[in-house]
Amino acid sequence: MAAVKITGIEITHHRLNYDPPFHASWDTRPRTLFDATIVRVHTDAGITGVASGDMMVGFAGHEGLFVGQDALAIERHWRLLNNIQFHWGRCWPLDLALWDLAGKIAVQPVWRLLGGLSPRLPAYASSGTLRAPAALADAAEAYLARGFKALKIRFHRGALNREDWRADIRALEAVRARVGDKLQLMVDCNQGWRMSWDAYPSWSLKEAIPVARELERLGVYWMEEPLHRGDREGMRALRGMVDLRIAGGEMTRELYEFRDLIKDGCLDVLQPDAALVGGITGLRRVAAMAQEHNLVFTPHTWTNGMGVVANAHLAAGVGDSPWLEFPYDPPEWGLERRDYMMAKPLDVDAEGCIVLDETPGLGYALDEDRLKRTRTG
Ligand SMILES: [Mg+2]
Repeated sequence: MAAVKITGIEITHHRLNYDPPFHASWDTRPRTLFDATIVRVHTDAGITGVASGDMMVGFAGHEGLFVGQDALAIERHWRLLNNIQFHWGRCWPLDLALWDLAGKIAVQPVWRLLGGLSPRLPAYASSGTLRAPAALADAAEAYLARGFKALKIRFHRGALNREDWRADIRALEAVRARVGDKLQLMVDCNQGWRMSWDAYPSWSLKEAIPVARELERLGVYWMEEPLHRGDREGMRALRGMVDLRIAGGEMTRELYEFRDLIKDGCLDVLQPDAALVGGITGLRRVAAMAQEHNLVFTPHTWTNGMGVVANAHLAAGVGDSPWLEFPYDPPEWGLERRDYMMAKPLDVDAEGCIVLDETPGLGYALDEDRLKRTRTG
């Protein structure tokens, strides 16, 4: 079979407006809209690769670097995307679209091309709001009833009042009291980065230590982003003080930073997101690094449904992720919002697992009517 050549890259922008608003714990501004960018890579074989998950900031003017090239020259394309992200901004959905395309050319699902370890992934429900203790305990029961075996809760009540982490502990205690050990619990402190408009500081090591000790007491599986992403000494020190796993890396930009985070002994759990960092091509290297150092690799997936699917293929292909993030916190963050661009939302089965199938590529279908109605550019 002759090489399949790229003939064009089409990028469209979409916006979903919604009500009631979503008060994300890591954002001081309530959210009432959700933007998505869809990337389509067309070829001379009539096959199109599609992906989403980031805004493709920095791609303008670069299409010519890819048109006319062999669609399967993924390493070459990845090097150029790495250059583009350094100079102009992140464009990793293009790498995901190239993998969707590669799967369609090979008539194989991407998880199988990547290594095919298991198409079945235990998912953890990743909540996004800050509910009061009783409401959070109710939500935990609802997650359990839906099949989930793990839940990540948010610690951010202290964003503007630095003593309020004790209110977070009370919420966690309420969940433990209600569901016992039936749910594995993770906690995301969201101290690694801030939204553009938020100027309040990250925790210091001395602030994170008492929180970590409480989480350890309550049997939490991992503590996510307890410190600023650049506080490597703090992460290493905290990791040495508690048995609790320390997780991070969701917005780490460069793959070599993962090498250094590992070398410096900062993290137990590595959480890059293929839609935001390195694409599938780059993150399979991080997965290999994690395996070599006996660390947990489990992608962050908080973009949109197509981003979740791409990360699920990566995790399923290389295996060993004990849990994969499944952003879900109804009613504010339900599947109809998260996956509005997809013909069918990605859901978990009765056991709380994401199960990928044999559909070639990344396996999703787009809701073209909805994409037309929500198109902004
Ligand atoms: Mg996080």
